[in-house]
Amino acid sequence: MAAPSPDAVRKALSVPGQAGRVVRIGPVEVGAGPFVVMAGPCAVESGAQVEAAARAVARAGAHVLRGGAFKPRTSPYAFQGLGEAGLTLLAQAARANGLPVITEVMSEAQLPVVCAHADVLQIGARNMQNFSLLKAVAQVNKPVLLKRGLSATLDEWLLAAEYVLAGGNGEVMLCERGIRTFEPALRNTLDLGGVAWVKRRSPLPVVVDPSHATGDAALVLPLALAAAAAGADGLLVEVHPAPESALCDGAQALTPAAFSDLMSRLGPLLQALGRQLAAPAAPALGGAA
Ligand code: PEP
Ligand code: MN
Repeated sequence: MAAPSPDAVRKALSVPGQAGRVVRIGPVEVGAGPFVVMAGPCAVESGAQVEAAARAVARAGAHVLRGGAFKPRTSPYAFQGLGEAGLTLLAQAARANGLPVITEVMSEAQLPVVCAHADVLQIGARNMQNFSLLKAVAQVNKPVLLKRGLSATLDEWLLAAEYVLAGGNGEVMLCERGIRTFEPALRNTLDLGGVAWVKRRSPLPVVVDPSHATGDAALVLPLALAAAAAGADGLLVEVHPAPESALCDGAQALTPAAFSDLMSRLGPLLQALGRQLAAPAAPALGGAA
């Protein structure tokens, strides 16, 4: 695809109310209207764990499988992810359950191996302004999900997205995952006003991550529903077959049952808003026993 000129990109980003951009992930379309749900574990821990998570989210009607193989952890002593082995397990579980895959790429050096397994490249909050990484993913023919930085303003987030757009990759989704504020009760503060603002300001699809936004599985459902009401195009949600034994972010992970409950509540809410849930990516598996 020919690179849009920086002026064209800036103009596109500053016209409110224009037609939204649609990002395609295989058969899944984000930003086309129907609401898209990406779900799975924070980190790939084993073949059995990621397979159980993939099966659960596919059966509940999720559209994309998430899972981290390269994990940006605050402590160097925390589980860092399984790396390339994790990518292989993630891709196998996704294929077996008919789902495309989103996973994080933390560095330019990891890009070739992540691209070999992923359908969507996630840029984590800590890397939102890693400009060399943004320029590198701009050269790749894969959609990018750009998380908002922990303390990034909305303009900084959009300008980070412009690095990818201006570099030649127009397939960019924005992801609001909570920002750091004075309030310590929740892990982060979900900026739903920012979601509504960015939906008016940018044509890019906006996805909300209520898991990292709250750090608390009990708060994921209300904020997921609120995100849909605020105009988000989709969700990125952490789901683990056994959250109590998760190696990473267990406190915010939904059980398969809680995720299934979330999916069944999203449909009626979206309908009340004049919207709908996207059709399951894995219809053959959706609703299976
Ligand atoms: C993640 O989604 O796995 C993650 C690490 O999130 P964030 O970059 O938002 O902290
Ligand atoms: Mn996580």
